Amino acid sequence: MSPLSNLAVRDIETVLHPYTNLDKHRQTGPLVLERGKGIYVYDSTGKQYIEGMAGLWCTSLGYGNEELVEAAAEQMRRISFTHLFAGKSHDPAIELAEKLKAIAPNDASKVFFVSSGSEANDTQVKMIWYINNALGRPNKKKIISRHRGYHGVTIASASLTGLPANHADFDLPLPGILHTDAPHPYRSRQDGESDADLATRLADSLEAMILREGPETVAAFIAEPVMGAGGVIIPPATYYEKVQAVLARYDILYIDDEVICGFGRLGTMFGAEAFGIRPNSVSVAKALSSAYQPIGAVIVDEGMYQAMVEESRKIGTFGHGYTYSGHPVAAAVACKTLDIYERDNILGQVNRVSPTFLKRLTALGDHPLVGEARGMGLIGALEIVADKATRRSFDPKSAVAAKIAALAEEEGLIVRAAFGDIVALCPPLIISEDEIGEMFDRLTRALDRAEAWVS
Ligand code: PLP
Repeated sequence: MSPLSNLAVRDIETVLHPYTNLDKHRQTGPLVLERGKGIYVYDSTGKQYIEGMAGLWCTSLGYGNEELVEAAAEQMRRISFTHLFAGKSHDPAIELAEKLKAIAPNDASKVFFVSSGSEANDTQVKMIWYINNALGRPNKKKIISRHRGYHGVTIASASLTGLPANHADFDLPLPGILHTDAPHPYRSRQDGESDADLATRLADSLEAMILREGPETVAAFIAEPVMGAGGVIIPPATYYEKVQAVLARYDILYIDDEVICGFGRLGTMFGAEAFGIRPNSVSVAKALSSAYQPIGAVIVDEGMYQAMVEESRKIGTFGHGYTYSGHPVAAAVACKTLDIYERDNILGQVNRVSPTFLKRLTALGDHPLVGEARGMGLIGALEIVADKATRRSFDPKSAVAAKIAALAEEEGLIVRAAFGDIVALCPPLIISEDEIGEMFDRLTRALDRAEAWVS
């Protein structure tokens, strides 16, 4: 192993890393990234990588976008901070709320700003509880999420998340947060079962859970249109139609987590549009500012808003909000990001290049290590298996997807190993067809090297 650089040694001595094997990190050290341009990032030795994950599913306009830099600088010069507490306001927050209301996939009434996806979903949980108290139904508080769903890491949002590592030894999930099945055709389809049959079985299972718990105790359902961190899981056709029919029968609100799918990732402005989802409330973050600033939002419908108005009248305030809710610099950058999406027709760009992305992705389905290659728009995944015919996984201790990610890094490509031995891809939306070709060439080399490694 090469001796650790000075930066690496300083990192190990000082930085506590999120989502990292803290013990292993002491030996391997960090990958220190220093600069970026377009879809490329460069490490401290000058080596170039394609950012095949758009950071953490977020840098949709890529790196070094001068218009976004200028939007931040201009707002900092004008007024670097002011807040939204106690009725104060500012231009960028008002403008951003108007823009979000105009494009949101729900019947949008008001926008509540946060700084991250976790804060958005934590806020969703608190709003749902608050609203049901306002409506005089204090027992209707449970929230149903899904196994493998990812909704963040704060206490309530980590509880909504349906991944083992986010619960184990954190004493989570909180009581009253339940998980129904993941709509994962590759892993859950029974012999001869059609998409429609699988969707019906999943919706029936959701309904059985609601009836078991008592519909009068279940307040809301939360889902990502396409699950991201849980392994880029694309539900079977008719799934959301059937889920929404179940929710409607029991007066259960629909929370749509668009933190990854929002702003063009699937080729539609929101994932909800791609699947015919009609949510009550929507969470957004990440690509809202192309990750140039930390900002997210919860967009609620009129019914939710009116209940909150009522309850705040009773209590004297809506007692929730973060110092940085609607931070003016973040809001100004988000406004500029949404302007660029519109001016540059980002949806047109995604729909132009995604056939090439999906063609190269699907071709990797023939690779001996790949059980399934799946994708939609500009998000995709390879499900790694030991045996293609039986879909048998490798022993999780072998961590083959993590090995592929490490080899890809050597080849100059950043991808991510997701739960379930899955390699995820989510490049910046501005990627060109040639760059997609280069990305898959690098990934193919990593897969071939991994095949030699496992055999
Ligand atoms: N929701 C979804 C769908 C996500 O993918 C994420 C993060 O990856 C979150 C919520 C949490 O966002 P954050 O990491 O900004 O707290």
